[in-house]
Amino acid sequence: MGTALLIPSISSASATDEKGKSNKAGEKPLILSTWNHGLPANQAAMEKLSSGGSILDAVETGVRDTELDLENLSVGLQGLPDREGITTLDASIMTGDGNCGSVAFVRQIKHPISLARRVMENTPHVMLAGEGARQFAIAEGFPLEEEVLSPKAAVEYAKWKETSQYKPVINIENHDTIGMIGIDANGNMAGSCTTSGLAYKMHGRVGDSPIIGAGLFVDNEVGAATATGLGETIIKICGSFLIVELMRQGRTPQEACEEAVRRLISKNKNINDIQAGFLAINKEGVTGAFAVHPGFNFAKATLKENVLIDSNSHFKP
Ligand code: ASP
Repeated sequence: MGTALLIPSISSASATDEKGKSNKAGEKPLILSTWNHGLPANQAAMEKLSSGGSILDAVETGVRDTELDLENLSVGLQGLPDREGITTLDASIMTGDGNCGSVAFVRQIKHPISLARRVMENTPHVMLAGEGARQFAIAEGFPLEEEVLSPKAAVEYAKWKETSQYKPVINIENHDTIGMIGIDANGNMAGSCTTSGLAYKMHGRVGDSPIIGAGLFVDNEVGAATATGLGETIIKICGSFLIVELMRQGRTPQEACEEAVRRLISKNKNINDIQAGFLAINKEGVTGAFAVHPGFNFAKATLKENVLIDSNSHFKP
């Protein structure tokens, strides 16, 4: 039986109120999601959890909300396309017992996160990519969407085509993956991550989001982490796995996120052009968040509230 939903609606979510602070006491259940779109996603996830869904159901349901958001240019089929004008999607899902599934470079699928879950639950594999992922989706009964850019993405792509300059510069306009991690009242954890990836990427490029250990990692014995930002840099340091392993060695979620950012910075020369942000929760429900540059924010939902928080960052405003 589900319990009544206690968190307030997103319209009453308070504004940023605890700049970058981790909650030292720990709370369960708890859901963290990257960026502004984390607020409605957290709301949907907490509703699912409070109505009797599992933490896995909750993190899938939460990011499905973002995958449908027509205003969002970096998650779902309305996301900005690659250089060829084709939108390709990456997603992953993981539970704290070590199960995981992901899809990469997939086309025409409205809910790649649900396809990633089917990979986890209905195949002997962890990851399906490209045409194989699309064929699996058809076999699983997923409808194929028409391959047309959303009106907003079409306008942006036309503007970009005027110069067709490819610069791997990450800013708030061309990235915004949703990564969500959560813990239920009993300490079970799960996470999800879904994106259309870097805008105007090379056709075939896959980012960190579908790579288990890079964009997402969950272990009930320790905690969970997720990432957003320039995927190449996150893959190179196995960002989410690194954070969970640092927590396993005794770091707090906040310390682990900060160490991952330091590691990422130490491996990249052109750090001025690179943004990345990490979120973490440990098994007590203590949270952490940190980014390379200012501007990263995240949503935190408990049974009492769902709030947007500005993350602290290595470089200061
Ligand atoms: N991490 C995503 C990618 O590289 C994009 C982002 O979160 O900014 O595909």
